[in-house]
Amino acid sequence: MKTKKINDKYKLYKYLWWYKKPWYNWTKFETDMQGNDVQDIIEALNIKKYGKRIEFIYDRACLRLDEFYKGKDLCKFCDGKCLFAQRGHLKDYNGCCRLCRYQSDKGCTTSNLTCKSYYCGLIRDLEETLEFKDISLIKLYSIRQRIMCFDNFYASREDFLLELKIGLIIFYSFHTTYRMIKNFWWLKNHKQK
Ligand code: SF4
Ligand code: SF4
Repeated sequence: MKTKKINDKYKLYKYLWWYKKPWYNWTKFETDMQGNDVQDIIEALNIKKYGKRIEFIYDRACLRLDEFYKGKDLCKFCDGKCLFAQRGHLKDYNGCCRLCRYQSDKGCTTSNLTCKSYYCGLIRDLEETLEFKDISLIKLYSIRQRIMCFDNFYASREDFLLELKIGLIIFYSFHTTYRMIKNFWWLKNHKQK
């Protein structure tokens, strides 16, 4: 296997679209640069199996978001109502998760990249948030995969990854619709109990 060393951050980011191409499948990337952002990208580029790389990017981006928000209480829940609800913009309990089958008393039971990076306008105005554009690793996904990441709420990690791996907008649209129907059916039955 050939080796390619990149020690120029600007060059690494600028040519990411090129370095992720199949002709680098037999190249090992190296760097002396430090920092999670660069190290994550190099690690991802060295995963040559398509599915494994997609999973790595997903889990690592989730981890970086978890690390960023660890110990912070941006939504300021009080008696089941988030800040947005406390200010009268929302009547329901459980904030953004109120319509999702993966909610539980102990929080989210799955790991959803879109949800982890989402905050409503109120919170984004008041607090510092981490957005997709701040996570360079995501740029290793194709444009279609990035589109799927922006708006994929109420999906389990497994469903999300399946959609990313298939990578077709048409499949994503059908699968999302199917998931939404399943979700609201579950919600309807759950609320009746
Ligand atoms: S992001 Fe906004 S709407 Fe969602 S739970 Fe937090 S405060 Fe509530
Ligand atoms: S998948 Fe998203 S909306 Fe559903 S419980 Fe988890 S964080 Fe909330």
